[in-house]
Amino acid sequence: MPEMKSIRKLDAVVVGAGFGGMYMAYKLREMGLDFVGFEAADDVGGVWYWNRYPGARCDLMSVDYSYGFSREIEQEWTWSEQFAAQPEILAYAKFVADRLNLRPLFQFETRVVSAKWDDDRSLWIVATDKGDVFEATYCIMATGPLSVPKEPEFGPLSNFKGELYRTASWPKENVSFEGKRVGLIGTGSTGIQVVPEVAKEAKELYVFQRTPSFTMPMRNTKFDDEFTSELKRHYPQIRSVAYNSPLGGVRPQSTRPYFSIPLEQRQSLMEDAWKQGGLAFLGTFSDLLINEEANEEVAEFVRGKIRQVVKDPETAEKLIPRGYPIFARRPCLDTHYYEAFNQPNVHLIDCIGNEIERLSDNAVHTQNETVELDALIIATGFDGMTGALLNFEVTGKGGLPLADKWADGASSYLGMMMHGFPNMFLICGPNGPAVLANIISLNEQNVDWICALIDHISETGQHCFEVTQEAEDQWMDEVRSLAELTLVSKAKTWYTGANIQGKPRGLTVYTGGFKRYRDSCDEIAAKGYEPLVLN
Ligand code: NAP
Repeated sequence: MPEMKSIRKLDAVVVGAGFGGMYMAYKLREMGLDFVGFEAADDVGGVWYWNRYPGARCDLMSVDYSYGFSREIEQEWTWSEQFAAQPEILAYAKFVADRLNLRPLFQFETRVVSAKWDDDRSLWIVATDKGDVFEATYCIMATGPLSVPKEPEFGPLSNFKGELYRTASWPKENVSFEGKRVGLIGTGSTGIQVVPEVAKEAKELYVFQRTPSFTMPMRNTKFDDEFTSELKRHYPQIRSVAYNSPLGGVRPQSTRPYFSIPLEQRQSLMEDAWKQGGLAFLGTFSDLLINEEANEEVAEFVRGKIRQVVKDPETAEKLIPRGYPIFARRPCLDTHYYEAFNQPNVHLIDCIGNEIERLSDNAVHTQNETVELDALIIATGFDGMTGALLNFEVTGKGGLPLADKWADGASSYLGMMMHGFPNMFLICGPNGPAVLANIISLNEQNVDWICALIDHISETGQHCFEVTQEAEDQWMDEVRSLAELTLVSKAKTWYTGANIQGKPRGLTVYTGGFKRYRDSCDEIAAKGYEPLVLN
């Protein structure tokens, strides 16, 4: 343990300098609060700082996946393409940090090791790995839903003595796979982006696939000057559409149920959606996430496309997802993923009934085979939603550990607060619409709502809030009853905790959509924050 230094008293601490933490820091400074932000990395960017693997790209459109709070930043920053790649998104985060002078508000390369509520003095005691201790009225967790990588079951990874890379902490230096035998484990959104890039370089690429994902062509496009100036002229309208949509972003919405039109027309619309790329299917029919039969027909259409693209029928059949609804796992958008399997140097290792058992010095050992490798890439996903908050000691009233509160599953109010944890805010926490909504819009909405509440507390002469157990229970009932209406919980995913052994199962996502969520939050504020006890 590092030696403890002096204690600094603050109005607030902010944990994390991703897009949520950056905007929170900006707002708290505007409000004149005394606060410190902490970030484990040496710079801003959050998930986009760490996930710098080849092919990393956002599958939400760049104009959506950007801050809307500053007209100046919108005008000064120019996106180069429809779906931005990681270097451009990280450059954007750095640009915002420079433009708003946010870096002095954070202590970088600093991890928070504990956050404990002091019942007697009604404040948070926050300690860092540098040995510093802070006492703060508010503790604001901007720790992100995807910041703690999953430790795969076949570990330890250190058993492999060749070059080992994790997509979630990719090195800053250039990595060359030229002339190497490379293994990739994991075929979620991340693995699917890695495959075509590494396939270009590697002598041999072995893709270890357990559950095949549905992925659709991204068909990314570059922006030209004319388009960009039109875009910049229309930002206010773009934001307005985004903030009033279920996704929190601009995406076509359909009111047309799948079976409301004849088969031929459905087929023709699906062909158009495939050609258009992106998530055009979700804008073509209204009921793909609630009607199992409609969902299965679209899934079958996509399976047909995989058979068309992948030349070897045996490989195509292995790549075809079955047994869960399309769009129930996070739908992936790819650039030549299936095409990569037509290259002679790309090999699919089907891990269904052939689980990876262990790693050794120079190989991955599955139940049925040993694959010798020079380099191994781990893209096995994250301990999503709750991982970051359970990664250090967080204790609420009466010393209640967060891990105990969440022993049977993460519970919260609006994904922003928890009974028993007064004056703590979560930005994009579990049981809000994060991961099903545009997280930048949600970050902004959460931060604005939290800051309005902080203002309200101080204006009313109070200094402490806590959500009632009753209000939290009611919110959780709503989250659960909405979840039952969708097909999203019907797949084994990180959305439901099913990717982590021993993690409580259950969809920790509000599926009512961004607009409805935002309306609920606004209504609570308009009614004077009734579900909160202020004192
Ligand atoms: P993921 O979707 O959870 O995928 C992890 C993959 O690793 C799955 O294919 C999983 O197979 C496999 N895996 C895990 N343990 C394994 C084992 N023991 N043996 C074999 N395979 C194993 O994680 P991700 O791809 O990192 O994506 C996570 C989320 O990040 C996405 O859902 C998305 O929200 C976000 N993301 C977004 C983008 C984007 O915007 N384009 C890009 C990357 C990530 P099983 O399913 O069988 O466990």
